[in-house]
Amino acid sequence: MTDDPTRCPRCERPTTYCVCDRIVPFETRTQVVILQHPQERDRDLGTAPLLTAMLPRARVVVGLSWASLAHALGHEALPRRWGVLYTGSLPQPLPPELYARPAVVLNRKGEPREDTAPLEGIIALDGSWSQAKTLWWRNAWLLKLPRVVLHPTQPSIYGRMRKEPRREALSTLEAVADALVANGEPPALRESLRKVFRSMIQRARDVAPPPSPPPTDQPRPDRRRKGRRAVAVSATAADESIDLSVPPPEEAPTREG
Ligand SMILES: [Zn+2]
Repeated sequence: MTDDPTRCPRCERPTTYCVCDRIVPFETRTQVVILQHPQERDRDLGTAPLLTAMLPRARVVVGLSWASLAHALGHEALPRRWGVLYTGSLPQPLPPELYARPAVVLNRKGEPREDTAPLEGIIALDGSWSQAKTLWWRNAWLLKLPRVVLHPTQPSIYGRMRKEPRREALSTLEAVADALVANGEPPALRESLRKVFRSMIQRARDVAPPPSPPPTDQPRPDRRRKGRRAVAVSATAADESIDLSVPPPEEAPTREG
């Protein structure tokens, strides 16, 4: 709870762009667990609170590492029944019909899945680009889970409201919305989630201009180097997606023995 009169007591966002008035809960079969990096501090424009407000079966767990899926969830669960949102490289290209979908559920190796039963739940990693990567590399049990691979078909609703380098990466809400539909939830759910998020961004834009774009006199990163990324995403979304297949320097696994 906040005593700050400029913030909503419920969501703690600035009252000027709180969207508590737009929240309509949506029952899902799929559970959603958002593993949030302890330093994720986007209190004003973060989307995890929108997900937990709208989805009764969604919750946020804050931390850096858990011994297993069951530890992260707080109850027993079969790893093959839970998927993790994944934006890294795949071992082989997907068939074209799968590329056309915004998200697709694959097995833990990133290959088409034989088990077609819907997942019991999905796990999303919430934080900045490097925070999400740290969470991935600190929780080796994530490698045992089926992967929900995202191919964003539209740029993020965040637009320029979010600073580099995640400017065009999907928000946690957009990624979860796509993953839920890939897991058999109704497309109307995706639309409801995106609509509330769009309202929040619209209200935020109305009160504050977006941050200036980065200076153009600096050389652009060589995007062709990232061409090995197997996940085909739209041109704008691809460049800033989190490639989980490469560890951040401080998380590179050390081989002992
Ligand atoms: Zn609010």
